[in-house]
Amino acid sequence: MKTAKQATGTDVTRRDALKLSGLALGGLAVGGVAVGTRPRTVRAGQPCGPNGCDYPNNGWPTQQYTYPTGLDPFTPNTPLDDDEMRITFLGSTFPPSRRAQQMMSIFVEVGPWIQNPNGSTGGPGQAADSFIFDCGVGVVTNYKAMQIGYGRMDKLFITHLHADHMNDLSAIYCFGPSEDRKWPMYVWGHGPSGVKSPMPPRRLYDDGTKAFCQHLREAMRWHTESFSFLPTSWGEYPIPTRHSWGLPCDPVPVGDDAPDDGFGLVPIELDWTKSGQVPGDNVAYRNPTTRVKITHFPVIHTRKGSMGYKLEWTAPNGQVLSMIYTSDTRPETISTDQAKNKDANGVPRGVDVFIHEMILPPELLTMKNLGLTWPDHAYPNFNAGVYMAKTVEESSHTPQGAFGYLLSQIVPHPTLTVAAHFPAADDTVACALNSVKAHCPWVIWDPKHPNTSNMIWATDLMVLSVKPGQITQKLAVVSDYTFGAPQNVPSPLKTPKYHTADGLMDPTAQLDLTTLIPPYDKDTKTWNYCENGY
Ligand SMILES: [Zn+2]
Ligand SMILES: [Zn+2]
Repeated sequence: MKTAKQATGTDVTRRDALKLSGLALGGLAVGGVAVGTRPRTVRAGQPCGPNGCDYPNNGWPTQQYTYPTGLDPFTPNTPLDDDEMRITFLGSTFPPSRRAQQMMSIFVEVGPWIQNPNGSTGGPGQAADSFIFDCGVGVVTNYKAMQIGYGRMDKLFITHLHADHMNDLSAIYCFGPSEDRKWPMYVWGHGPSGVKSPMPPRRLYDDGTKAFCQHLREAMRWHTESFSFLPTSWGEYPIPTRHSWGLPCDPVPVGDDAPDDGFGLVPIELDWTKSGQVPGDNVAYRNPTTRVKITHFPVIHTRKGSMGYKLEWTAPNGQVLSMIYTSDTRPETISTDQAKNKDANGVPRGVDVFIHEMILPPELLTMKNLGLTWPDHAYPNFNAGVYMAKTVEESSHTPQGAFGYLLSQIVPHPTLTVAAHFPAADDTVACALNSVKAHCPWVIWDPKHPNTSNMIWATDLMVLSVKPGQITQKLAVVSDYTFGAPQNVPSPLKTPKYHTADGLMDPTAQLDLTTLIPPYDKDTKTWNYCENGY
């Protein structure tokens, strides 16, 4: 039987690395990343003890995750309690996507629940304030299954511009105005990295969020014009200002869209180097009406610019509920410092929910990606895959044991810690728990009693109800066949861009109808088909 000790104790040899350089020509993709790098110096193997995680697995199902089935059910659109902060995972893993888990997205709502917001009638209502943190590949499907309408998805905080964290923005931006987001889409994210290209002439690309939004807005021009025969603007929209939302800059749409139009795309670019060393220098959003404050801080991930966020909400009883989402990062000190959450007097208060990424050991990641049941170093391309996974981890991620170590550095401990960006299966979680507990014996993960756990692994449709002194885990019960989310359509709506002389929608204004087969043939005075659709 192969053990994890054997697996993790085996390092990639120089010969493997050279073999890898040949494989690179074939564009091998293991660990979700195409190989295209030259061989680099390989480090000597680091002695690490076994973590009790044997492969072939000793009884854990490798293709399922049974823990979520023990959670209380959550019904979509259940109104929030006044003192409740709700954290819903719409995506929870890293590339490649799995049917069970889309890429990263976290939806945070705060109470109270408002019925008939913005002059709407008959809709489901909405939270007093709500925020999307990242929107990776595939997450829109989960938002719709959860019956979350686009009008509630207007504030997006991107941690970094990797596609597994921002890909679905195109759908959220484009389809919002066709439904109930009749005002702009607001996108917070990092400014330019400042990293020069190593290739002559050493270009300094503008790789920040504002440039991203400018290019996205123009790339979506055909879509946005074509759908602009529908109303895209609410007549009484209170356009936010730098002051009213506590922003670090004026919220101005890129391009020529009006500041109250649904196809407005508003970047709020953040200075990613700031972390509150000078009080207030890292505030991304501070809304005195909804009592939500969101701050940012730099993390270490792939390229300069990646950030984590902290959300603090003052509940009606005056107690502050808090959540940190570090997103992707190597283990580093700013996240742990943020999670200590010191007050103005320097006293650490801790956070309610601490969400941080975790990555599988390179051997297990490669094993999973190749569909193996144990780390078979003799399998074709296995060692090359391990080598690739190691380089990805060195640039970007937090291994299981490192996660345990950094968690041990956070005192007071978070009330609930969530490992995310992780492919959850019974075997991967059981193995990861061993690594975490090696550094954090106080960690409790109990599949049979979810609400006694102080650490969990995120999975899609997991819902955390956070209240003063109480966090409850739930799992949403949804249909695979939901058509769409019920909407809170605001009223009154403005005249659409493509309209008739009477100010009505003009659905054919952008069309050449020469070859159209009409319902009624005026020449022969006969009906070709019925106008009512039947
Ligand atoms: Zn990622
Ligand atoms: Zn990333």
